[in-house]
Amino acid sequence: MRTSKFPVAAHAMQAEGSKHVISRIIDFITFVGLPIRKKFLLFSIGVLFWFLVIFVMSVATLYDINRRSTNIVDSIIPHDRIAQKTTRKLQSLHVDAVEITDASNLEFVTQRTMVSKSRLKDIDTFLAAFARGGRVHDYSRDTDELIESFEVVPVTEYAEGAKYVQELSGLIETLGLAFDELARVKGELLQGREPEAVALPGVYQKLQKDLAAARTLSNGFSAKSAYLYQVQSQKIKDAVHCTSSAVVVVLVIATSLLALFTIWISRSLANPINSMIKQIHALGEGTADLSQKITVSTKDEIGKLSSEFNGLMESIHGMATFKKVIEEDDTLDDVYHRLGREFRNVVGLEEFIIFEVEKNAKKMKAAYPFLLPHEEIHCHEDILVNSDLCRARKTGHQVSSLSYPGMCRQFRADTGKEHICLPMIVGGSTGGVVQFLFDKNGRATVHTDAIDRKVFAAAQYIQESLSVIEAKKLMNTLRESAIKDSLTGLYNRRFLQDYTETLVAGALRRGKAIGLIMCDLDYFKQVNDTYGHDVGDAILRETAATLTECVRKTDFVLRFGGEEFLVLLVDVEEGEALTIAEKIRTTLAAKKLKVPDGTLTKTISLGVSEFPTDTEGIWQAIKYADVALYEAKHRGRNLTVRFASEMWTEAKF
Ligand code: GH3
Ligand code: MG
Ligand code: MG
Repeated sequence: MRTSKFPVAAHAMQAEGSKHVISRIIDFITFVGLPIRKKFLLFSIGVLFWFLVIFVMSVATLYDINRRSTNIVDSIIPHDRIAQKTTRKLQSLHVDAVEITDASNLEFVTQRTMVSKSRLKDIDTFLAAFARGGRVHDYSRDTDELIESFEVVPVTEYAEGAKYVQELSGLIETLGLAFDELARVKGELLQGREPEAVALPGVYQKLQKDLAAARTLSNGFSAKSAYLYQVQSQKIKDAVHCTSSAVVVVLVIATSLLALFTIWISRSLANPINSMIKQIHALGEGTADLSQKITVSTKDEIGKLSSEFNGLMESIHGMATFKKVIEEDDTLDDVYHRLGREFRNVVGLEEFIIFEVEKNAKKMKAAYPFLLPHEEIHCHEDILVNSDLCRARKTGHQVSSLSYPGMCRQFRADTGKEHICLPMIVGGSTGGVVQFLFDKNGRATVHTDAIDRKVFAAAQYIQESLSVIEAKKLMNTLRESAIKDSLTGLYNRRFLQDYTETLVAGALRRGKAIGLIMCDLDYFKQVNDTYGHDVGDAILRETAATLTECVRKTDFVLRFGGEEFLVLLVDVEEGEALTIAEKIRTTLAAKKLKVPDGTLTKTISLGVSEFPTDTEGIWQAIKYADVALYEAKHRGRNLTVRFASEMWTEAKF
């Protein structure tokens, strides 16, 4: 069946994409990505928004209440009052009509008719004020005192009122005429004109009918005003109730949201800070678990601080672990190797060389990468034999071609590289130099800041390793002084005791032989006697150099005694040891050794044996070489003698 993995990949990508979108939306809603300053700004805007909502609601309600109460005070109440006063005056007019009709003298009729007309005029005045708007005055009919006075808004703004004024004004006019007619008919009747008696009831009834119509109109208007009053009051009550409920709801929502937001912000601030405080405290007490990380839940300054803190802890942790590991490393080479690995894997530096300055501070060599070919060293080779030429080694200061091009003249300009050399100060002097290399035109050079950061981090590792390097160097020196001869620099007998087992095991494992050459200078005593001990010492050093010269780097040359040397040849073939011994003998014999009055030549006698060819014990083999040497001396010196079993007689040794 043919299957394709692409749809699966596309599906996975889609899922990844939507997950990304969701997480971005959540980040947006929870303000995770915003800096603290903006979070607080949003918080303040939120508070302001809710206050604004409450403010707008309250203002709208107050405006509505104000509009309605103004309507009540300015229109409904004065209109109702006018209607009520009119009704009262109409009731009085009803009494007037009855009394005029029942009157028994003319004077009363005249006087009452005048009062009635005056009442009708009052009503007219009310209605006029009602129509135009303005102040209404009501005086007492008996005492002429002002009973009350109030403002009325023009009725034009209120259709019901206008209708009321218009209809009532018409009736008042009719009533005026009706009262005149009643007074006239009644007057005529009182003056004895009989026919009028017939007309009076009709006039009276018509007047009462008009009065009743006017009262109905006024009462109706009054009732309407009372109704309007009730409606507006209810609306005011409702508005107050509704707004106060809404304000309470808004306050509850806003307070809850703000409380949640405050808790969230304070937690996202406080939690990581508390964790950091705890870690710092534990660091101070030395109980910190450096591998423990702080949860980074926000992307603001606190999130960044947490990440930085984690990074710091990680580097402290890494550094502490690194130091512990190198302390337990066996050799200095292991330390350099591990340092190199940290530079490459942790710090991210790709090209570098760790130079080690040798004990006498004259020479230096590449310690990492180990056995670096000369052509891969970017400095002039001279620095390897005279480390004083290396600027970083000599000054003990950082040397960077990035900050000062051509700062060190020993760095070859034709390499197309930039370099930063850091000295390693060990025991008060420069024990080594680490050289970091960067491509001149590469990306790395552009980002000098990134380089500085990396080199700074590398310097921390170097700093951490210095004490360990110093301790290891000291150990090496002590060990060397125990196994090396100070006069010639060759290994001593102690070395033989310590390393023979290792040497033998290696040879046996590889199935190879060890060649042993015991050497003794001929008539050496004479040199001392003739030129003194110092010249004797110089001849011994020269002999040591000759011996080292004649063998491979992997062989061992030992000063066995005063002017006796032992050469251990590793992995030799049959007869090879004898050849090398002869080479030693002839080389030394051909050398002109300096003495105060010129030169002299010195010969050497050598005895050769092989392990395990001659014997199964290495110490026995050494003894055989010595026997062979004795034989060489015996035969006249300046000779190489291969051990033969007949030389070994128990009686002799
Ligand atoms: P041959 O071995 O040929 O028999 O004669 P030789 O004179 O070399 O023999 P011998 O073993 O008697 O002399 C060894 C001399 O080496 C004795 C001692 O003064 C000298 N010698 C031993 N160690 C040192 C040293 O460290 N420095 C100097 N200058 N001389 C030493
Ligand atoms: Mg000798
Ligand atoms: Mg000797």
